[in-house]
Amino acid sequence: MAELKRYQMYIGGKWVDSTTGATFESINPATGTPWAEIPSATTEDVDKAVTAAHRAFTDGPWSKMLPTERGALLRRLAELMKTHSEALGRAETIDTGKLFTETRWQAQYLSNYYDYYGGLADKIHGDTLPIDKPDMWAMTIREPIGVVAAVVPWNSQLFLVAVKIAPALAAGNTVVLKASEHASVAMLEFGKVFEEAGFPPGVVNIVTGMGDPCGTALTRHPLVDRISFTGGLTTARNIIRNSAENFAEVSLELGGKSPLLVFDDVELDNAVNGVLLSIFSATGQSCVAGSRLLVQDGIYDALLEQVVARAAEIRIGDPLDEKSQMGPLATRQQLDRIEQTVAHAVSEGATLIHGGKRPTHMNEGWYYEPTIVACDSQDLDIVKEEMFGPVLSVLRFKDEDEAVRLANDTRFGLASGVFTRDIGRAMRVTKALRAGIVWVNTYRVVSPMAPFGGYKDSGHGRESGLEAIYDYTRVKTVWFNTSRDPIADPFRMQ
Ligand code: NAD
Repeated sequence: MAELKRYQMYIGGKWVDSTTGATFESINPATGTPWAEIPSATTEDVDKAVTAAHRAFTDGPWSKMLPTERGALLRRLAELMKTHSEALGRAETIDTGKLFTETRWQAQYLSNYYDYYGGLADKIHGDTLPIDKPDMWAMTIREPIGVVAAVVPWNSQLFLVAVKIAPALAAGNTVVLKASEHASVAMLEFGKVFEEAGFPPGVVNIVTGMGDPCGTALTRHPLVDRISFTGGLTTARNIIRNSAENFAEVSLELGGKSPLLVFDDVELDNAVNGVLLSIFSATGQSCVAGSRLLVQDGIYDALLEQVVARAAEIRIGDPLDEKSQMGPLATRQQLDRIEQTVAHAVSEGATLIHGGKRPTHMNEGWYYEPTIVACDSQDLDIVKEEMFGPVLSVLRFKDEDEAVRLANDTRFGLASGVFTRDIGRAMRVTKALRAGIVWVNTYRVVSPMAPFGGYKDSGHGRESGLEAIYDYTRVKTVWFNTSRDPIADPFRMQ
């Protein structure tokens, strides 16, 4: 067996092992074999990371740096992301199975996030208030919150790091990042790029390890002021409980079961491409995956026929191979869970139209075919629960009212898509959808300028855009007495 690549954590500007020396293995999903050895952080390691972040926030050069200087460092990081995009993308692909063509492009594109927030760093300001009292002048100051604990899942390491640390640092906070135990490598490789950018020690720290103890110790630590979590619902509940210990502010980016509504006035090829983009990119392992396709009666058969034909053409293969169009699932548990849920749906009356099995031409790794299942009830688990894989459930609707009712009949509310050529309908449906993002005649577009986040059980708080700056700052209100007269004795009545 090939030797494992050894990694260390990044704490207080130094590369360190776990205090106990404990490690765990990271597995390459394309082969199912271990390829990297990662430190397993203890409560003590987490304490060191949070203390380093706290010191950098309170006494370190970071707290004394001018916002313009913070911005310059973020812009330097943006440049380095471009320089290192190939290596960062490759590391993420080997560790998660995400296509190299996507991870490399994404690492390049993420430089825009560091650039955007670098530019915002010295444009964060409060207001002067038109106050209702004579001889008083009142203003607000927007200040950083403090130490941010950023906890992320495995599906998009570099992207999740950027959307969390870029606004947090622009606003003047310091950060402890916790990588997913299923995919820590890209974040640790990013740590080297971050170090090269020249940020002072402790501004960003990276810990690796299990949800418990590493994530638990981090999110209940008394010196943590703000928690930014992306992940699943059960973990979110644990994190809210942990925050009862430190009263940290919490934002949650959770899962989704996003509907894609296709009306029968669409241009067919366009809608077919939209459907494929929404569910089979990133092997469906995307929180915004359009995993619930709702199609109007008049176009149902024609659309489905083309979606199935195109799904059958998707080239499944080694994610490092630039000709591959779909890679493996990131974990073995994911593959098993998806197989079981599809089988269960079929046993309950759903119709398997395409896929539903492991591809026969791949002898190793955790691959699964693009899968399409026709359903006539939203009560099935396959329609209700997030699959986080290339599994599309399809339902039909008669009219706009039914489409909106079906779309909103979910506990989630992260994203949604509408395909129609009727502008009035597009606007009515957009207003009616209970989701944080609506894509009209497109899907899965993100940008540093556009807020991102959910409604309902998909969480709260917003990442990206100006909203993220508001989420990483708090407001101090300052009152000035401008009167020439002394303050009247409050206990002597005139
Ligand atoms: P997960 O909730 O199992 O793990 C996420 C992170 O939480 C990991 O780093 C894990 O170690 C940590 N963790 C686990 N237990 C913890 C605890 N008790 N205290 C603190 N931290 C703990 O999620 P996952 O299965 O790795 O990721 C998939 C989920 O992430 C899906 O539901 C997906 O939709 C969601 N996701 C959401 C978005 C979004 O922006 N809305 C983006 C990507 C993924």
